[in-house]
Amino acid sequence: MSTILNLAPQNVWKHFHELTQVPRPSGHLEKIQQFLLDFGKQIGVETFKDEIGNIIYKKPASPGMEDKKTVILQAHMDMVPQKNKDKVHDFVNDPIKTRIEGDWVYADGTTLGSDDGMGVAAIMAVMEDKNLKHGPLQALITADEETGMYGAFGLKPGTVDGDILLNLDSETEGQLYIGCAGGVDVTCTMEYKEVPVTEGKAAVKVVVKGPRGGHSGLEISEGRANTNKLMARLVTELAEHDGACLVCWEGGNMRNSIPREADVVLTVDKACVSDVKERAKAYEKIFNDEFNEVDSEIHVLVEDVDLPAKEVPQEISDNIVNALLACQNGVMRFIPSVRDTVETSSNLAIVKVKEGKVEVNILTRSSRDSMKEYMAKSIAAVFRMAGMKVEFSGAYSGWAPDVNSPILKAMTEAYKAQFGKEASVKVVHAGLECGVIGAVVPGLDMISFGPTLESPHTPNERCHIPSVQRFYDFLVATLENTPSK
Ligand SMILES: [Zn+2]
Repeated sequence: MSTILNLAPQNVWKHFHELTQVPRPSGHLEKIQQFLLDFGKQIGVETFKDEIGNIIYKKPASPGMEDKKTVILQAHMDMVPQKNKDKVHDFVNDPIKTRIEGDWVYADGTTLGSDDGMGVAAIMAVMEDKNLKHGPLQALITADEETGMYGAFGLKPGTVDGDILLNLDSETEGQLYIGCAGGVDVTCTMEYKEVPVTEGKAAVKVVVKGPRGGHSGLEISEGRANTNKLMARLVTELAEHDGACLVCWEGGNMRNSIPREADVVLTVDKACVSDVKERAKAYEKIFNDEFNEVDSEIHVLVEDVDLPAKEVPQEISDNIVNALLACQNGVMRFIPSVRDTVETSSNLAIVKVKEGKVEVNILTRSSRDSMKEYMAKSIAAVFRMAGMKVEFSGAYSGWAPDVNSPILKAMTEAYKAQFGKEASVKVVHAGLECGVIGAVVPGLDMISFGPTLESPHTPNERCHIPSVQRFYDFLVATLENTPSK
């Protein structure tokens, strides 16, 4: 028997232990869905699975609480399967082993699944408990959040209906999240016919590398270097002074990562090769002066290469470089009502120019859908002016914070009364299920919170034991203090 069964609050840890015994890596949810269906039926609440595989519970209000607003408790059932290299573990069939070390619960060389098993365990505890005071309750336990929020995206209108949604998938106890970013992918393409390289030219390869990169949402506010942008600045300069024309460009590899490297091959006037090298050196210094406080050392390297047979036509080369230079990148606006938090941003993520084809991939994000659209359209305008075709895809909604939300007011007051300190209120500049669910169930007043987890998605994932008690007590108090209709 696992020792986590002795931890407090026992009802939550009991259910978390049961969840560790049911394999539930993303994409393999049959066992956990059956387990959750059986659980709901056994405790006698209305239980069903929707078309996409989400599990829903509905429990009537406790006596005297019928006039409260309806609360939807929400968590995701899947977990990220990660293990240490030397660990033998089959996530589809093997249970997760847990161990306690000091104030923390870990797994044994694998992810623990406290993200979001703790949210699911708390829902099970609330649903099972017949002595809690609460208004009408529903629970939405979503499928496959970790691989693309498929359960949330597949949620049909009318499956759940409530006034308030409490998402239990945050990772720092004492923080209340009241907003997140939506996103849209912008893809710009063009085909061109390569032309023979003009007389009197030489070729160089230019590499910009060294910056840290990072998550294009969570780390965009730091103003780190984007190597595609640095390269566009340098190539613009070289086109102006040294007759530079593109042969190819390769920068960045993931839409949601700030690019850390960009390589181009250019033809330049033969007489200008040494000038190119001097300008590259000068720009290396400029870049390091600009970014040394937020980034690691940036290198701009130039080497001579064999003259290729063909290049991009000069006019098209200039158009591509101009568009990359003009494309918005980084933070566009901070949220007016929540200081120091990014509202709208973009990441000039991937640039590929090669053998007659250009493709540029940008990810734009905003907690406000209309600003996301504005950002995406302004980027599209630049690339269309350059003669490129622009498509939008993968759009999902943000969750615009409402600092006057009734449930936020009730929860910040309850937190202060319970723990004698203020909860911190934040907006995350990345996608959460709340944004997606909020677009399906309009008018929801939403908050995201949870116990403290560290290093989720890695074999070092750990859950802070004392924070689970505070998280659960706070959840129970929130249900008791739900505003009335
Ligand atoms: Zn999660």
